[in-house]
Amino acid sequence: MRCPFCGAHDTKVVDSRLSGEGDQVRRRRECVECAERFTTYETIELAMPRIVKSDGSRETFQVEKILAGINRALEKRPVGAEEIDRATSRIRRKLTASGEREVPSRRVGDLVMDELRKLDQVAYVRFASVYRRFEDVNAFREEIELLERQPGRPEDHGG
Ligand SMILES: [Zn+2]
Repeated sequence: MRCPFCGAHDTKVVDSRLSGEGDQVRRRRECVECAERFTTYETIELAMPRIVKSDGSRETFQVEKILAGINRALEKRPVGAEEIDRATSRIRRKLTASGEREVPSRRVGDLVMDELRKLDQVAYVRFASVYRRFEDVNAFREEIELLERQPGRPEDHGG
């Protein structure tokens, strides 16, 4: 970590703590050369496993991709940005908690589906229909019937 004051390469960490949703590390650093102190925020991006796509190729985990998919599914649905943030945080945490260095993209998709199912059933079906590419109308209908048979998500009080 380069010192922003004198450009020296050698800095030491004097304090380190978790911040944000627990997926960010705030580090207080001190330059060994000029003794200036500064703070860095590091996301635990490095600990994210690589994603193995169905064709066998690998790519780095990008939370933006997950967010894009979730936002697309939730278009015009009554779900707030905070709920979406919490959902993506949970997905990241589950992926890091697995401790695996590589994770099939299918697992990421399943985690997104789990979260969408809890957030909004319409969004869930939208996402599932794209993600699973239902091969025929019957498979899609079965999924919807399954949803209708399940007791709905817990309703808000007074709703
Ligand atoms: Zn310095």
